[in-house]
Amino acid sequence: MSDNAGHMSPEEFRRQGYATIDWIADYWASLDDLPVLSQVAPGDVRRALPASPPEQAEGFDALLADLDEVVVPGLTHWQHPRYFAYFPANSSPAAILGDLLSSGIGAQGMIWATSPAVTEVEQVVVDWLAQALGLPEQFQHRAEGPGGGVIQDTASTATFTALLAALQSAGAGTVREAGLGDARWTVYGSSQAHSSLVKAAMMAGIGAGNVRMVEVDPVTQAMDVAHLERLLADDIDDGCRPVFVQACVGTTSTGAIDDVQAIAEALDGVGAWLHVDAAWAGVAAVCPEHREVLTRGLHLAQSFVTNPHKWLLTTFDCSVLWVPDREAVVDALSLTPEYLRNAASESGEVVDYRDWHPQLGRRFRSLKLWAVLRTYGLEGLRAHIRDGVELARRVEDLVAEDDRFELVTARSLSLVVFRAVAGDEETMAIMDRVNASGVAYLSHTRVEGRAAIRWAVGSWRTTAADIDRTWAALTEVAAGPR
Ligand SMILES: *Cc1c(COP(=O)(O)O)cnc(C)c1O
Repeated sequence: MSDNAGHMSPEEFRRQGYATIDWIADYWASLDDLPVLSQVAPGDVRRALPASPPEQAEGFDALLADLDEVVVPGLTHWQHPRYFAYFPANSSPAAILGDLLSSGIGAQGMIWATSPAVTEVEQVVVDWLAQALGLPEQFQHRAEGPGGGVIQDTASTATFTALLAALQSAGAGTVREAGLGDARWTVYGSSQAHSSLVKAAMMAGIGAGNVRMVEVDPVTQAMDVAHLERLLADDIDDGCRPVFVQACVGTTSTGAIDDVQAIAEALDGVGAWLHVDAAWAGVAAVCPEHREVLTRGLHLAQSFVTNPHKWLLTTFDCSVLWVPDREAVVDALSLTPEYLRNAASESGEVVDYRDWHPQLGRRFRSLKLWAVLRTYGLEGLRAHIRDGVELARRVEDLVAEDDRFELVTARSLSLVVFRAVAGDEETMAIMDRVNASGVAYLSHTRVEGRAAIRWAVGSWRTTAADIDRTWAALTEVAAGPR
């Protein structure tokens, strides 16, 4: 160690570590008084920071001071109790400590041999979560069959991974070697499917133009399976090769739930891969009362993804992909350079997770999910999900009782989609005014061509008082007598 290298001493690390945890706790304590949506203009944050790095070492305290002065005003506070936009991404204390431990251990779990515990703790944790959600046995490592789960960074990556596996399986194992060839591959999802489906098709070289948008039921917004059947039949007649169908359990726009069972039946004889995207809603299956609707037909799917980093209290990023047949994934993605050859891998007795996703290196991501599952217990997780659903019911009731507003779709778990009766302009104006006031943050969507406000509950900090305060802000800016 050279003298002027700025490594922290162990004592300094402890001191700054305590100060950092204090900073986080103080930040949380201040949230209620901060505007949820950042109020800075483009360039404000950059202008407040030096354009070049310091030549001389600075203390870590200087960075913490800049967080307060420059960074916090430039943040939209995702952990705020009145953050209701998109889907809240919960960061619980337990998950943060688990994530910190992962950084401290700093291990690379690309293959089993580079740190056996990184792989095996993950296998246990994704099995635990599969049981907690009531997923079919075939998705679990402990079933000692070909199935299992893996933690990915995001659902987008998980969907891309599943698509690559589908192509390799459908192409009789030739795609990884010879590429896509002359086949005209086609991919299917409802018009409400997440944009990550189109992006996956772009990245795989299939092309966005070969993703078919299946129509949805105008009321439920769920996939119209009869239309899927017609699209499949037309494409097959035209000489296309349907390779991948994505069912969505809880769409981003309205929380609509596609009928996985019916979609699987429509795929009988087609040979396409069925992927179930339950990125947001899937974790609610931890509650028995939601399990049936969220997991029906799942035993017929080739892959399933859900994000503990949305509603299940696990700091971003943590998305879990399960497959009943790992060979399809490994076939598509395994590649062993000489320097990674080792006896454990060749014995076939271990899982090498680098074969389960696009990248090689991987963090000890299971620690934060392990911390959440252990410190909340399934009882605690169920209570958290039920709180979110209960608070969304409160929103639903408030909307239903006010003549100036109407529900656009039925409440889905903790998501309420509604609008101003006066029309699109008024709907957007109300939302914009509330967001600009800083009281709460809501986002919008379009349903059947008309503007709607999405109110997504899910933070562990949100209380009934936060719902009422947000509703008061909404009704205050809404025009007309109630
Ligand atoms: C949020 C969401 C995604 C994307 O999740 P990332 O983990 O950010 O990639 C995909 N599908 C649905 C239904 C979602 O709600």
